[in-house]
Amino acid sequence: MKSIEVSFHMKLRDYTTMGIGGAADRVVFPRSPAEVREIIAAERRAGRTAYTMGAGSNLLVSDAGVAATVLCTKKHLSKVVFVGGHSVIAEAGVMLPRLAVLCALSGLSGIEGLSGIPGTVGGALTMNAGAYGRRIGELTDWVEVADAEGEIHRIEARAIRFGYRETEFPVRGVVVRAGFRFSEATREAVFEQMRQWNEKRRVNQPWGEKTFGSTFRNPPAGEGAGALLERAGMRGEREGEACFSEKHANFMVNRGRATASDVRRLMARGQKAVRDLSGVTLVPEVKMWGEFDV
Ligand SMILES: Cc1cc2nc3c(=O)[nH]c(=O)nc-3n(C[C@H](O)[C@H](O)[C@H](O)COP(=O)(O)OP(=O)(O)OC[C@H]3O[C@@H](n4cnc5c(N)ncnc54)[C@H](O)[C@@H]3O)c2cc1C
Repeated sequence: MKSIEVSFHMKLRDYTTMGIGGAADRVVFPRSPAEVREIIAAERRAGRTAYTMGAGSNLLVSDAGVAATVLCTKKHLSKVVFVGGHSVIAEAGVMLPRLAVLCALSGLSGIEGLSGIPGTVGGALTMNAGAYGRRIGELTDWVEVADAEGEIHRIEARAIRFGYRETEFPVRGVVVRAGFRFSEATREAVFEQMRQWNEKRRVNQPWGEKTFGSTFRNPPAGEGAGALLERAGMRGEREGEACFSEKHANFMVNRGRATASDVRRLMARGQKAVRDLSGVTLVPEVKMWGEFDV
């Protein structure tokens, strides 16, 4: 793995939007799908556990970190190719806001609703991220996934089950690239729509703060997680420096030096308060890595 960039014992708090998380044994930064293949094969040969991370915008990493290798796509897997006919190919580490701006500049519409999500293409495909009535799965033509041996498979969208904040690929592994199909629009119209939606975000969600977005999934029916938490009195509640945002009760924010344990304790309090008041069990949307006491 000589030419592949790797850092040892890096604190994952530097790689998550929440700014929380202990160290990983190593963090590797592939530059191409071929390097992803190489890393997976090398980790497998060494018998080491490997996790994949994009922008870390939906992740809570424990304070003790993870005894594993973390493959981080965000730094270098960032190529975008416009292939004509409204089709665009993006590598897994491409940030959604950048993809949305590049599409808008090319007069392509579809992804602008997701332009305020601070995640990567790979993370968004894994979570079927969505906003303002659009989910990334609806815009997807195909996805390339590197399996446990490192072999890369191109999977057509019709063979993928895109659900609510979850995706089931017929091959499990690391998303390395994807093809999207957008529609034609004027640059001005796409930028104006982006502006409006991002303004809405700024008003309704914590903006420029350390957060991992929605803490809990919305229940399948009835009130959303934010409304349930609010009714249970959790808006603004804190544990240490972790806090349910004043702007949106389902957004957890790190007001300074919050720990993963603070976050977990606050999550457990939120779940109990909602269960006691409404009988609903909130299920975390945020992905958790490592060991937690709570
Ligand atoms: C301010 C803010 C606003 C947000 N708004 C929204 C919103 O409107 N809608 C929404 O859906 N989400 C939202 N989110 C949540 C989050 O941004 C999305 O879930 C995003 O798609 C996660 O992408 P990521 O690259 O950060 O993934 P990460 O957080 O790095 O990882 C998330 C999961 O995906 C896996 N993963 C990441 N990359 C890959 C890959 N290449 N291959 C395989 N698995 C991978 C990880 O292992 C992990 O399980 C918001 C978050 C924040 C902080």
